[in-house]
Amino acid sequence: MVEFDIVRQLQKDLCPAPLSRKSAPVIGIGDDAAVVEVPPGKQLVVTTDTLVEGTHFLPETAPGDLAHKALAVNLSDLAAMGAEPAWFFLGLTLPSGDSDWVHQFSSGLQPLARASGVLLAGGDTTSGPLSVTITALGLVEEGAALTRSGAQPGNLIVVSGQLGDAALALEIQRSGGLPVDSVHVALDRPEPRLAVGAGLVGLATSCIDISDGFVADLSHILRASEVGAEVDLGRLPHSAALSSLTESRRWELQLNGGDDYELCFTIPADNEAELHRLAQASGETLTVVGTVTDSGRLLLRKPDGAEFTPVGSGWEHFSDSMEQSG
Ligand code: ADP
Ligand code: MG
Repeated sequence: MVEFDIVRQLQKDLCPAPLSRKSAPVIGIGDDAAVVEVPPGKQLVVTTDTLVEGTHFLPETAPGDLAHKALAVNLSDLAAMGAEPAWFFLGLTLPSGDSDWVHQFSSGLQPLARASGVLLAGGDTTSGPLSVTITALGLVEEGAALTRSGAQPGNLIVVSGQLGDAALALEIQRSGGLPVDSVHVALDRPEPRLAVGAGLVGLATSCIDISDGFVADLSHILRASEVGAEVDLGRLPHSAALSSLTESRRWELQLNGGDDYELCFTIPADNEAELHRLAQASGETLTVVGTVTDSGRLLLRKPDGAEFTPVGSGWEHFSDSMEQSG
């Protein structure tokens, strides 16, 4: 396949004509640059993420899984900002123009792109070692974007879904094993929590998506908000796949494993009823796991009340940075 055919395939699958939709780009694929219309009263939220073979995914990763994940990690960032996805751009570097690969990649992108309402508005196609860069654009009401910096002492800390499945899948894969379906799906086909993110606008005081591990990402909120936190490890939500592990092994995966793509956010303590409504409306599990404090540090409590110090790097990173900022 030559570049023109690749772009035509992507356009057919991901920005099909006729484009009568309100969010269709004014000028899309085929000109020197795209033109999009930002509706009055809205702001554009823009994010980009690159996946490189060998660094972010294994060479044997299926093209459809790679495509899904490249879009999912970007939409997860939009979800964390409370934005509604609108358009995306695709920078594709391919070692060859293998048409089978391109078809699988393109059709792997389709379900998530359709479900989340994003249209492909442009991109770039080059040859070289395999890498995928997606830039996603979303819309929020003016001034309403969720940030990392608004957490207040007394707020509840909440996470969506379950933590640790993707980290378990990666561990099993690295040791040459085959993960069970549920954890494999968590690693290869994460679902961005868009409905939760949108529902948090006006409710959450801060929000982040968990890509580098719960401790590392909650620490970003704590630093940006200049607060501390107390987390109850017994409340961290996990799937059945993690039930058979010892508590400390499970906590390590949940606290420091990456790639969860769940949301971690804070809400005022008197908003728990709205949290339940959002859980029902979005169909996602939303679990209160702790409280924001004014201590300036993150305290992890075991069910018996004792403090837990994980060995993972997320924790080291947190204490270093807190010292610098404190
Ligand atoms: P230019 O040389 O002017 O940068 P290109 O030949 O790179 O133009 O791209 C032509 C058109 O095809 C542009 O609209 C560009 O956005 C689109 N395009 C190229 N590669 C991709 C891709 N991987 N995904 C989506 N659109 C693409
Ligand atoms: Mg170009």
